[in-house]
Parts: sequence; C-alpha cells; structure tokens
Amino acid sequence: MKRSLSIFMACFLVAGSSNGQEWASNIQQFIAVDASVVAIENVTIIDGTGAGAVAGQTVVIRDGMIESVGTGTVPDGAHLIDGSGKTLIPGMVGLHNHTFYTTSQRRVQLNFSAPRMYLASGVTTIRTTGSYAPYSELGLKRSVNSRQRMGPRMFVTGPYIDGQSNAIHRSTPTSPDAARRVVKYWSEEGVDWFKVYANISSAELSAVIDEAHTHGIKVTGHLCSVTYREAVVLGIDNLEHGLYANSDYSKTKVKDECPADYRRVMIDLNMSGEAVQTTFREMIAAGVGMTSTLAIYEHVVPNRPPVEQRVLDAMSPEVQKEYLRTRTRVSDRNSQLSKDLWIKALEYEKAFVEAGGLLASGVDPTGYGGALPGYGDQRNYELLHEAGFNSGEVVQIMSLNGAKILGIDEETGSIEAGKHADLILINGDLASDPALIRNVEIVFRDGVGFDSVAIIESIEGQVGVR
Ligand SMILES: [Zn+2]
Repeated sequence: MKRSLSIFMACFLVAGSSNGQEWASNIQQFIAVDASVVAIENVTIIDGTGAGAVAGQTVVIRDGMIESVGTGTVPDGAHLIDGSGKTLIPGMVGLHNHTFYTTSQRRVQLNFSAPRMYLASGVTTIRTTGSYAPYSELGLKRSVNSRQRMGPRMFVTGPYIDGQSNAIHRSTPTSPDAARRVVKYWSEEGVDWFKVYANISSAELSAVIDEAHTHGIKVTGHLCSVTYREAVVLGIDNLEHGLYANSDYSKTKVKDECPADYRRVMIDLNMSGEAVQTTFREMIAAGVGMTSTLAIYEHVVPNRPPVEQRVLDAMSPEVQKEYLRTRTRVSDRNSQLSKDLWIKALEYEKAFVEAGGLLASGVDPTGYGGALPGYGDQRNYELLHEAGFNSGEVVQIMSLNGAKILGIDEETGSIEAGKHADLILINGDLASDPALIRNVEIVFRDGVGFDSVAIIESIEGQVGVR
C-alpha cells in the first residue's frame, strides 16, 4: 500500500510551520539572516536536479520559499548577499542520521550537539533511521519545530525492530502479532518511519511492513537475515548501507539467518553480472531506493579517513582518546577484506545509479565514533566523488534523491522556484574541489540563515557528552 500524499503533506507542513513563533533567546545569536526577502546575487549554483554548476545566478527567497532562480532583477528592499566566489547548493537530506552517537565504549544521545552539527554542516532534513530513544527524538522534533532549538527538519523512526539478538535496547518481537503491536503503538505515538535490523525474520518483517503501511508509514532496513530481494518482495520501502548489508549473494544462505559468508562473497561480485543486476532490476521495478552510508564504512578501512582537527575538537577528551585508540587498532589490523570490500561498495553504488536506481545518502554516526553528525555527511560528499559521480550527481544524491524517498521532493531537495529555501552557501567554487564542502558559511532552513561557524563553536568538546 502506498502512503497517501495527504499524510506526507500533513507531516511536512507541521515540520515547516514554525513561522510566527519567536526563536528562543539563546538561538538568536546564531541567526545570520532573517528577512522576509533575501537575494543571493552572482552565485554559482548546483541545483540538485543533477545538472552541473551554473555561474552568475541570483536566487530570491521570499517568506522562507525560493521565489526565483536565474538572472532576473532583485526586488526592492531585499536583504542582499554577495555570492561572488561562492557556491549555493540545496540543503542536504540525510537519510541515516541518528541523534545518538557511539564509540567503541559508549552510546550517547546527542540532543544538544547532533541537531546543531547537522544544521551547521548543511543538513536541513534528517531521517533518524533507528532510534534508542524515540520519545527523545519526538521531543527534539517538537522543540525544533517550535523554535526552542535549532536543527534540521526531522523524520523520526521508531525503535529498532530486530529478531533474536543479544541487544538489550531493541524491540525483538517473537511473533508477527508482537511485531504489529510495536508498530501500531509507535505509529500512534507519532513516529514517521520504521527501521528493521539485521536478525529480523521474514514473517515479522512482513508484519512490520503491512502494519506500518496501514498507518501510512514506510519501512527501511539494515538487513542480513532477510536478503534485499526477499525484502523487496515483502514490500520494504528503502534499504540501508548499499552493498554492505546485502546477503543476496551468499552461497550458504539459510532462510531467516544472517549467513557467515555474506561479506566475503562480495569481493567476487561482477557489477554487470546477472546476480547484481537482478537485485537492481527488482528494486527499481518496486521503487525501492538505497541509502549510501560510505562515511561510516570508510572507518573500517585502515588509515581512513585522514584525521581532521575539527573532528577531534568536537569530541570530549575521553571520546577523542577512544576514537584514536580504536583507529590505531584498525590500522594495525590492516584488513585486506575491508580494503577490497570498500572498492566493491563504491562500484555497487555507481552501478546501481547507472542501472536507474534511486540512491540517497546519510552519515550513520556510529561505529567507533569517527563519522560525526554533519561532518560525516560532508565526508559522504567527497566519497561519492571517489565512487565516480560528478558534482551535479553527488548533490542530487545528497538532496533531491533523499527528498524523493521521504516523499517531500515537491517541497525541498533542489534549488527551484516554489520550494522551501533550504540552502547551503559555501565559500569557494565547490565544483572545482569537493573538499570545499567544509567551507559552509550560511545554512538556510525555510529561508532563515544560520551562521555555521558560530554554531560549530558552540558544540566544541560536546560530542560524547550531550
Ligand atoms: Zn544506523
């Protein structure tokens, strides 16, 4: 069953309907631009539709919406921003953007720093895609919508729904009826999506999907016990982690079990071969998009990514130590499998898009703690280039494609007249160097411009604490 447009619109309008409400006093200092009419002049845009960079554009924002894009005249009284030497791209739509964070030693709910880091890095919409504290996320979403906190537009997921596992913070229903009960409860509590996890059985997955769809809610999964092709037949709406969570190619797969060989077989995959192309064909025919989370999987590749000072600065001292210690251990282990898998993961995502698949992205700030909220999304921007996409395609993957999966592409995800003004103003010619994605100056969400540098200063040392 397809989720009706009216339900999507209702969610979205609530998310964007903060106009008229005052910003909390401790937030006003981070607002760089708050005028009813804003014109960004002479700027290079990469608009999110897949098109390449276009120089010399003027973008006019009125009452939070994009009024025009092009070379026309600027309305009288507009707040002017000189865009020379700068690039404007749509706000990123992060599809695997948790509000919690982990290292090898801890898991912390980052209600303070995560929304700030997402927003300051240019992520204007997130789907949390697995929650350990759904009430925290629902509360966070309410306080962002009512301007008591600053952060991205939020699509909250219910608790992880898994099969038999030792995890103590997930829902592990042992029958289809129990799975339906979990979905019904959280649907009525107001979550926007569900996420299933790697040990779920097909019977419970089927029940989750059916019950969620009854409530007009979609389901994504970090799978293993159920293959991608099986999940597509069951009606799943989205699949997380690209190649890394796909057990389609295992030679030892037993129904409803996560096979031991599913990663190892990936290194022999031929992207144009029948096995891979069959997965793609079935996903595409069913309209199932895939979420790329390269920034997190990169961390199991030895000596990657390069250590960034700003990442260390954002961490508390203990978290910094934990991160660097584990990073050294991963480098010392120097796993050939991790290196080979990485190359296949990049190839898989490129081939999926070439086959006509809908690829979006998200950071997944978990693992041993190197992919931070927002910063990891920016790293994704570079890594998708490494996979062979050009800057027009990468911007599209990171904005419009995510909006499509969320069903809000009529409202946001590209720089087009009539859409919400969710925009990132970057100092420099982004198309000439992907690393410039870090040079964010102003992030507009619904036309309100936030001072990225000031927000980042406010979270220093807080990752791992709050
Ligand atoms: Zn995750």
